[in-house]
Amino acid sequence: MTHKLAGFGTTIFAEMSALALETGAINLGQGFPDTDGPSEVLDAAIAAIRGGVNQYSPGLGDPDLRRAIAEHQQRWYGLTVDPETEIVVTAGATEALAGALLGMLDAGDEVVVFEPMYDSYRAGIALAGATPVPVLLSPAESGRYEFDADALRAAVTDRTKMILLNTPHNPTGKVFDRDELQIIADLAIERDLIVVTDEVYEHLVFDGSTHVPLATLPGMFERTLTISSGGKTFHTTGWKIGWMSGPPNLVTAAKTAKQFLTYVNGAPFQPAMATGLRLPDDHFERLRLELQTARDHLVDGLERAGFVTHRPEATYFVTVDIRANRPDGDGANFCRELPHTAGVVAVPSEAFYINAEHGRHLVRFACCKRLDVIDAAAQQLATAF
Ligand code: PMP
Ligand code: GLN
Repeated sequence: MTHKLAGFGTTIFAEMSALALETGAINLGQGFPDTDGPSEVLDAAIAAIRGGVNQYSPGLGDPDLRRAIAEHQQRWYGLTVDPETEIVVTAGATEALAGALLGMLDAGDEVVVFEPMYDSYRAGIALAGATPVPVLLSPAESGRYEFDADALRAAVTDRTKMILLNTPHNPTGKVFDRDELQIIADLAIERDLIVVTDEVYEHLVFDGSTHVPLATLPGMFERTLTISSGGKTFHTTGWKIGWMSGPPNLVTAAKTAKQFLTYVNGAPFQPAMATGLRLPDDHFERLRLELQTARDHLVDGLERAGFVTHRPEATYFVTVDIRANRPDGDGANFCRELPHTAGVVAVPSEAFYINAEHGRHLVRFACCKRLDVIDAAAQQLATAF
């Protein structure tokens, strides 16, 4: 293995899902739903396969999906994006991220990134030969995760090329609000930085919170590459259809790398994703309400089992501080033992930190599961603790 990949090993999601299979424990680790998405979307994929959409897609992705993505950005955010020059379909958000990092960073560049962070960010930055500079998100009194604007400013140096943002945020469930986004935007403009923003949980926001894409802030479209995917919005994480949108220079840079990663992927799933993106508003509303109910079942269940947690504003994930239940605060060992002690799998949050110590006592549970599954897991946890 190369020096660049030293220390990356197997991803925590693969490790924890394998543990769930091995032990038969309820898997609240890796974030994937345990029910299928809308039948219109599933039927469209089957029809595409039967209709012969089984060969390579065009390099930029199915033109109709690119139009549907442009319509989606217009409908939800009032953003006008040209499907011919400003959108590329990718193998999930993961490939869009890899393409962006490999296509925009040179060796020695620095990337300012909020910590904790989704695991592929650090690996992608390392593969590009660049250096991540973390800015800590830490829980305020209310439990909401926040950053220190001065720390963000101090993280930018002469070598900084990019800020990498994720909102709504995995694993904290934070939605960056408009004021926070403005701080990031002001800094990006002042220091002439690119921002790559990962918005895969854009439709999974609760309690009246609103997702604001960074690209909608004044002066930001031209320096922002926005990434999303259909996995979370249509319960199709295994299809790996994602996309990026932004000004032609940024999309071209990311596409230039992307085309040598997979070239293209998932031809019959691309028209199905277009069907999904064009579903009426009530699909998106139902998705949000169902997941909000699931979040409440999980948070209530974790609290009954004695865990200290807070109700996240968004995403699939609930984080607990385990120190009340396990005084040594060792989240990694806690997660290794949990399938055996409680029949439940969770993910140690230290996997999302560059400074693992910051996340050592935190553990992430996923709520994107059937209510009976969440309730059973909660019951098992309450019995075990
Ligand atoms: N970004 C974040 C923040 C994620 O949580 C995930 C996991 N689904 C991804 C990107 C990857 O998305 P995809 O499965 O579309 O590659
Ligand atoms: N995004 C999902 C999570 O954070 C899973 C992604 C993966 O398995 N790589 O759990």
